Amino acid sequence: MSYLIHLQCSSCGQKFDPDRLWNLCPACDKPLLARYDLGRLQTQLKKEELAGREPTIWRYRELLPVKDQRYQVTLGEGGTPLIPAKILGSRLGIQHLFIKDEGNNPTGSFKARGLAVAVSRAWELGAGQLSIPSAGNAAGALSAYAAAAGLPAFVYMPRDVPQNFIAECKALGASIQLVDGLISDCGRVSNEEAKKYGRFDCSTLKEPYRVEGKKTMGYEMAEQFNWSLPEVIIYPTGGGTGIVGMWKAFEELEQLGWIGQKRPRFVAVQAAGCAPLVKAFLEGKSTADFWNDARTVADGLRVPAAVGDFIILKILYDTRGTALTVTDQEMIEGANLLGKTQGLFVSPESGATVAALQKLKNSGWIKDSEKIVLFNTGSGYKYSHLWY
Ligand SMILES: *Cc1c(COP(=O)(O)O)cnc(C)c1O
Repeated sequence: MSYLIHLQCSSCGQKFDPDRLWNLCPACDKPLLARYDLGRLQTQLKKEELAGREPTIWRYRELLPVKDQRYQVTLGEGGTPLIPAKILGSRLGIQHLFIKDEGNNPTGSFKARGLAVAVSRAWELGAGQLSIPSAGNAAGALSAYAAAAGLPAFVYMPRDVPQNFIAECKALGASIQLVDGLISDCGRVSNEEAKKYGRFDCSTLKEPYRVEGKKTMGYEMAEQFNWSLPEVIIYPTGGGTGIVGMWKAFEELEQLGWIGQKRPRFVAVQAAGCAPLVKAFLEGKSTADFWNDARTVADGLRVPAAVGDFIILKILYDTRGTALTVTDQEMIEGANLLGKTQGLFVSPESGATVAALQKLKNSGWIKDSEKIVLFNTGSGYKYSHLWY
């Protein structure tokens, strides 16, 4: 199964035993990342063998941390379509435009990938109860996978989170706590209560395995493009785990010899009302400041501080990528354009990628002939209140 060999701190580089539960690096409080024996895997697995496997994230099981298959909790996550967006592309003057449609995942967002892996591995390592701070979609995904594993879930969301997110967690049997403030405040309470009651906190990048699930978006995209990568990836960025995950995926694929050195330019799109990473990027900084008074209808982008800020910014600089904001109105217009041209009902986060693409095309940063992938990170159904 897994070729996991150790955990390594993304900042100080120290290595840790992978077979016990960890949150942040005990030495420097930064994210821990999973490392695999890629040299050995290269001699044991050919990329062509993947084609015959199940169309879920578990087709990459050697590159995921779960060691005993009995702990693999699956609801059919991953295996999402990479849709050629011909009509939208011709409308915007882009010849090779694709949409990675993560709205097809269990609970309607790519959060399912991360939480399938985090819950499976936490269960395997003996966690009894799980908790999570969330702006909305992560809480639903944790609730689903914890239920499927038979573990109790405790979710913490902002008090003003849209009703649909609460309804979903309720139906999935989680204990719900609404917190005054933002996801950052939820993070504080979730962490305090996890310590007090002996729960394992699954806050993104504060445990090592959600990013492992999310990296499968990168593997899948490479496989769907027959082991090549696009020129540009446009990603709606909150905590940025998706970007960190895909970056990690490409590094691993290169070490396996399955792809070359070329990397896509990563584009981080944030909301005009909450753009800590865009601000830091434009100022050329290596970390981001806390964003005060964060406001946007895109709940997944209402993240005023990202634990992995230094990793995300480095990826944007290293790939000669960029970061930009779009307004809430532009996101909804983007979602409507995607809806009427491609038949996808998407979240405002995903609409943001369409608005960003238009801006980058108009400014000349994107050329008509480049291969571009937009990430539809979540379906529109939980955000239907925005269209009433
Ligand atoms: C969480 C979320 C995001 C942000 O994802 P990160 O990888 O944490 O930056 C974007 N879109 C949707 C729909 C989300 O739920």
